This record gives sequence, structure tokens and C-alpha cells, in this order.
Amino acid sequence: MLANASSSLPSPYFREEHEQLRAQIRRFVEQEIKPHGAKWEEQGHVPREVLRRMGELGFLGIRYPAEYGGSDMDTLGSVVLAEELGRSTFGGAAITVLVHTDMASVHMANAGSAAQKARWMPEIIAGRAITAVAVTEPDAGSDVKGIRTTARREGDHYVLNGTKMFITNGVHADIYFVAAKTSPDARPSQQISIFMVEKGAPGFSVSRALDKHGWRSSDTAELSFQDCRVPADNLLGKEGRGFYAIMRNFQNERTIIGAMAMGEAQAALELTIDYVTTRKAFGGTLYEKQGIRQRLAMLAARVEAGRQLVYHAAFLDAQGVDCTREVSMAKAYCGELVNEVMYSCLQFHGGMGYMRDSTIERMARDARVQAIGGGATEVMLEEVAKRLKR
Ligand SMILES: Cc1cc2nc3c(=O)[nH]c(=O)nc-3n(C[C@H](O)[C@H](O)[C@H](O)COP(=O)(O)OP(=O)(O)OC[C@H]3O[C@@H](n4cnc5c(N)ncnc54)[C@H](O)[C@@H]3O)c2cc1C
Repeated sequence: MLANASSSLPSPYFREEHEQLRAQIRRFVEQEIKPHGAKWEEQGHVPREVLRRMGELGFLGIRYPAEYGGSDMDTLGSVVLAEELGRSTFGGAAITVLVHTDMASVHMANAGSAAQKARWMPEIIAGRAITAVAVTEPDAGSDVKGIRTTARREGDHYVLNGTKMFITNGVHADIYFVAAKTSPDARPSQQISIFMVEKGAPGFSVSRALDKHGWRSSDTAELSFQDCRVPADNLLGKEGRGFYAIMRNFQNERTIIGAMAMGEAQAALELTIDYVTTRKAFGGTLYEKQGIRQRLAMLAARVEAGRQLVYHAAFLDAQGVDCTREVSMAKAYCGELVNEVMYSCLQFHGGMGYMRDSTIERMARDARVQAIGGGATEVMLEEVAKRLKR
């Protein structure tokens, strides 16, 4: 039994390999992310060299087979990556990496043919090919079945038409996993297929980079497909199975967002405890005010609870158990909790917390989307509610 993210107490979930990975990522975050994160926030993206370096260090292939250069670890390995990147305090940098490792490239890893994987997985794991996943559209987000992008078969090609919205890594990715309707007349769950679209494909363009409230070092784009021709071989998995692929991969995405949120919440609590133990008012430190330290203590308890729920869901997933209920609970709980933590932590920083150059101000902005993206809280609660009835 080894330690978890917040304490040196034993955790039944982690093995030696997880802890070695945690130590390596934590070192990388301290040395290679934190000193440069503010510059990337201004630039609006994480430089490609940083992603390549992470590839060299093995951080982009934690779950992938050794034959492609991966480390063959389990779901808890991804949780360690997400927590530690969350602790960086730069949510934009964290999501840039996590979309690539755990939300986009999983489409290739889970549904790609042997030939597709042999061609692309080594590139993905090395950080030479960065990935994005394009499901959301201007008129369909939570309701995936409502997408309108189409893919029509023409000889040896598919022709894609439509618009994708809010796509992370949308400007800088090399490969996009795009959801499109191949059989609009089939049952709703069988209409969608997933295509791999390479940057530069004819008819594919980035229509605009989007300006955001937070996650400012993550690039987000609107994408346009106008008679975009992709070879029929770029279909991932079977035609009509895309909705199931999206739902399956959402389980991982939601676990990872939960872990990232708990890493962020932990970092915010730590930096706030540092602040209130030195800041003085009314004859003592802020920490000496019972109201402040008790609120922090309760938040610390809830973050511990959220973190253990994420670990539990990841553990079940690693055992191959269907844990949609636990994953949905974790996403809903952690997505809301990280925002409550940020609210209180910013409050206890006083006016300083409202200043653009304070860390907690950025973290509070970054956290907001955790209750929206990858399954809004309400959508997650519907998934839980469906599974409460006996
Ligand atoms: C910064 C950012 C990055 C993103 N990255 C990606 C990406 O890489 N790829 C991608 O495909 N998408 C991405 N998204 C899209 C994201 O997953 C969607 O925004 C999210 O699923 C919500 O969809 P929507 O915005 O269309 O909101 P809508 O579906 O219009 O919902 C609006 C709100 O209504 C509420 N709501 C929705 N359904 C229900 C319900 N059944 N019951 C009660 N309330 C409900 C929720 O509060 C929700 O926030 C990203 C979004 C953002 C903001």
C-alpha cells in the first residue's frame, strides 16, 4: 500500500509503479510547467516541445501497450497523471495533455485497426502527433445524438460536412477524431461513426480560435468540414458504432476530469492554508479564526472524499467492472466541489485573490468548466439517477 496525492498515509489503490510515476510527474510539473505556465496562458497554447518532452519521459503513453512505446499501466496511472497535472495550478496546460492522452487518442487505441495503430500509436505516445476529439457542435453538446455533421460514402472515400465547436487542441492538433452521421435513418444510437481526419485534409479547416474565461493556455477551436474527403480507411471501428465508442470513452474522460479537479482542489487548499497562516488581521493570523480554519477543514474532508471516489471508480474500471454510476457520481461531485473550493480559497485571499496575477484567481476561472465539459453536472446526475432505482 502506497501513499495518495495528499498525504503519506497508505492507500490500497496504488502500487510502487504508480508512486514512481507520481514522483516523476510532480518533478516535471515543478520544473517544466509551473515556471512557464503564465507565458503559455498569454500565448494561448502549450508549446509543442513540451509535449514532445512529455512523450520522451513516457507520460503520453501510460496506459498504452509497450509494443507502441507505452507503459501498459492501468486506469490509476491516468489518474496519477491527471491529479498531478491538476496540482500544477495551470488547468489549461493540464487539459491540453489530458485531452491528448485520455480523451482523444483513446478513440484510436480502442477502435483502431492493427494497421492504424501501428502507424499512429507510436507517434501519439511520443508526442509527435497531437490529437483532438471533435464531437460537440454549435447545436449539440450534452445531447450527442443530436449532432448534424454527416459523412457520405463516395467510392474509396467519405465526404464530411458540418461544424464542430469548443474543440480542445483544435488549432494545434495533428489528428482529429470526428463524430459524424453515416446513417441518419438508422436508430439514433446507430447513426454515428468516428473518422480520423488529419490536419490538412481537403475541405477541413480551423474556422476560428475561441477566446475563453479560463483554461487560457489550452487552445480551443471551431472546426469546419466542407466536402472534406477522407479515405474510407480512416473510419475508426465499424460504421454506426461511433455513439457507443463515445459513451465508452466518456467513462475514462469523466474519471480523468474528476481526478484533475481533485488535484486542483488540493493545490488550492494548500496554497490557501499557506496564505492564511501568514496573513494577519485582528491581532492574529487568519488561520487562527475558527470560521476560516473550520471551513478549510470541511473542504479538505470533502476533497478527500471526492478523491477516494475517483480512486474507487478508477480501481473498478481497472478490474473491468461496469462503474458508470461511480464515474458519473465522481464527475458530478468533483466538478461541483472544485468550484466550491475555489470560491472559498479566493475568498480567504481577500482582495489579492481578485487580482489577475494571483494564482487562485486563475484557478477559480479554470475550475468553472469542470462542471460543464465532458458531461455537465445535471447530465451526470441523470446517469446516476437512472441507476438509483432498484
Ligand atoms: C473549454 C471547453 C473545451 C471543450 N472541449 C471539447 C472537446 O475537446 N471536444 C468536444 O467534443 N467537446 C468539447 N467541449 C464541449 C463540452 O463537452 C460541452 O460544452 C458540454 O458537453 C455541454 O454541452 P453544451 O455546451 O452544448 O451545453 P448544452 O448541451 O446546451 O447544455 C447547457 C446546460 O444545460 C444543462 N443541461 C443539459 N442537459 C441537461 C439535462 N438533461 N437536464 C438538466 N440540465 C441539463 C447543463 O447545465 C448544461 O451546462 C468543450 C467545452 C468547453 C467549454
